[in-house]
Formats: sequence, structure tokens, C-alpha cells
Amino acid sequence: MYQPKSLHEIRIYHSRIIMSVLRQNGPMTKNDLALKTGLSLSSVTNILKILTERKLVTLGDKIDSFAGRPATYIVPVLDAVYSIGIDVTQYHVRFALMNLGEPILAFDKHEILFQNTDEYWDRIYAWLEAFIDSNEIDREKIGGVKMATRVAVPYSERKGVVPILLDRAPVMIDIDEISRKFSRYNFEFILNTKVAGAVYGLWEAKELSDYVSLSIGSTVGGCLVRNYEPLNVMDMSDTFGHMIVRPDGRMCSCGRRGCLETQCSSSALFRRLDFSSEDAFFQALDQGDERCRESWNNYLDDLSIALNNLFMAYDLDIVISGSMAPYLEKRRNELDLRLFREYALFPIRKRLIFSHDGEYAAAIGSAAVVINTFLSDKVK
Ligand SMILES: [Zn+2]
Repeated sequence: MYQPKSLHEIRIYHSRIIMSVLRQNGPMTKNDLALKTGLSLSSVTNILKILTERKLVTLGDKIDSFAGRPATYIVPVLDAVYSIGIDVTQYHVRFALMNLGEPILAFDKHEILFQNTDEYWDRIYAWLEAFIDSNEIDREKIGGVKMATRVAVPYSERKGVVPILLDRAPVMIDIDEISRKFSRYNFEFILNTKVAGAVYGLWEAKELSDYVSLSIGSTVGGCLVRNYEPLNVMDMSDTFGHMIVRPDGRMCSCGRRGCLETQCSSSALFRRLDFSSEDAFFQALDQGDERCRESWNNYLDDLSIALNNLFMAYDLDIVISGSMAPYLEKRRNELDLRLFREYALFPIRKRLIFSHDGEYAAAIGSAAVVINTFLSDKVK
């Protein structure tokens, strides 16, 4: 259980809990808030005073209560801030728009092969502007735009020219130069894509304080989430993808063989076989294509080994996000069979959870960083 260390931390923590309950459930009375959050009525009253002052909640209609005095609805101000996350991968650029409410307001996706050219980054900027316009968002209310990609150096070194690692050889990008293009907004390249996906857990796996986040798409990676916080979110915690699951497997971008990343990315599953999308691959698989069947069997074996290792090491639920999440969920019987019957040393009691909007997890995770920072700053 999370233990805040100071009054200040307690205030931020309680504010986040209350805002989170209001965001999920909509307006409710103070008593219901206390019941739902498990906080005392006096704590709720104190926090609400701060949240009202900072214009994060307002008082709504009064309703009759059985206890005599009429009760007032506490209403979250959902459009206090907007935030946009952009996920840059080898084959796609994805956008997510959110405010303080749920669900996520809008998504957008463009298919484009990554290339480190002015034209490429300008194009993303133009898509961003179009995304804002089509959703009729007041630009003054945009708290930040965050871009998730696979920056391969720790947070403190993310200045100037740095390497990023998509599913091909590393590419050097000039972070400062690119950031200048987006300088109209509070812009930052801050996250490893996969860790951004874990932050999304703050929104989706709300009842879970501790879990393992694993993102599977054109790259594979993840991190440990403790007390609702991804560990080392700003740094290099995104290394699950480089655990070796097949020692004689394919060569990985890290120089070794058989890493989870190289065995279980979308390239490993279907791009190698010249399919251009998950849909095309699974269609061929369902029609009995033997090459697809072999690739899928190997894929499931390798993934099961990795998932088993993660269950054994952490004994926590695993949340799977990334573009493969919906396909794995659809075929979870096949995965479960291997994972929980064939490979398990003893019965695994933890769950495998598939994140919805899985392919947008990194974009949502980046947008969620803005929201979390906004809330923390507001109640400081
Ligand atoms: Zn590797």
C-alpha cells in the first residue's frame, strides 16, 4: 500500500483519488465520495475545499437526502485542461486526446514509415494541428503535447542528438530541433513508448496498484508499476523486451539472439512473412495457411515463456497493451492453454489483463502524464 511521506504528499494523493473517482463516476455527494474513496468525511471536506478553490470541481444541484439536510452534488470540471499524446513507431503515428474526464475524447492514426526527415516531423505537426481543429479544442486549454517514442538514453541525457530504437537499426534524432517545431505547445519527448503504456494503467487498471505492464506491438517492452506509478518512468526501465526467450533465435537490434522483442514483435509474427497488418495475417491463419500457423505457434511459445518468467519474478497481474493486445485477447484460449497449463510450474493465480484501446496505450499514456502533472501542480 502506498504511504505518502508528508502532508503535502498526502494532499496530492488524496486529491488524485477524489478526482479519479469523480472522473469515473461523474458528480456525486460528499458522503458518497467518502464511502467510495474510503477517506474520512473530514479529509474529503478538506480536499474539496482545495479542489474548489483551484477550480477543479464546482458545486452542482442540491438533492434531497434522507438524513434531513439537502446534499449537494460535487461536479468535476472536466475541461479544466486538455492534453494530447503522440506515439511515434516504425509504421504508424497515433494521437490521443483527453481531458480530466473519461473516456478518452478522440483518437487518430496515420500509417507512415518512420523517417528522420524534416518533412516527416512537419507532417506530424500538421496532423497535430488538424487533430486539434477537428475536435474543436481551445488551444489555450491544452496543458501539453507529449511525444512517446523509443528514446534509447536516460531522461537526463535527452538533449540534442540522441538515438532512438524502433524496430530497425538505431536512428539519431535531434530532439531540440524537433521540439522547436512543436514549441507552440508545452511539448516534450519524454517517454519510452512502452513505459508510456504503463502510465495508461493509471487510467485503465484503476483498481490495480501494482502490476506488470507489457506492451506488444512493432516493439516489445514494459515495466513494473507500483503504487500506481510506473517505476523509473523517465528512465530506462523499458527492458523486458530484451529478455532472451529463444537462445538460438533471431538476431536482435541489441546484438544478441532471441530477445522477446525480436521473437514477439509484429515484425517477428507477420511482417517477415510479407503481411502488412495483423488483420491480414490472422485472416490467412484462419484460412489454414501453414506458414502462418508455424509462425503463430512459435510466437505463442516464446510469449508464454516471457509471461511465465514475469509471473514467476513478480507474482503480479500482467496488463498487456500495444497493437497486438486485441488480437491476443481474441485468441486468449490458445495463450492460456500454454501459459497456465503447459508452461506453469505451479498454478498461476495472477491474471492476464488485456488493455482496451491497446494500440493507443502509448499515446494515452503520454497524454495522461500531462493530466497527472496538471493535477499535482494544481493542488501543490
Ligand atoms: Zn535484444
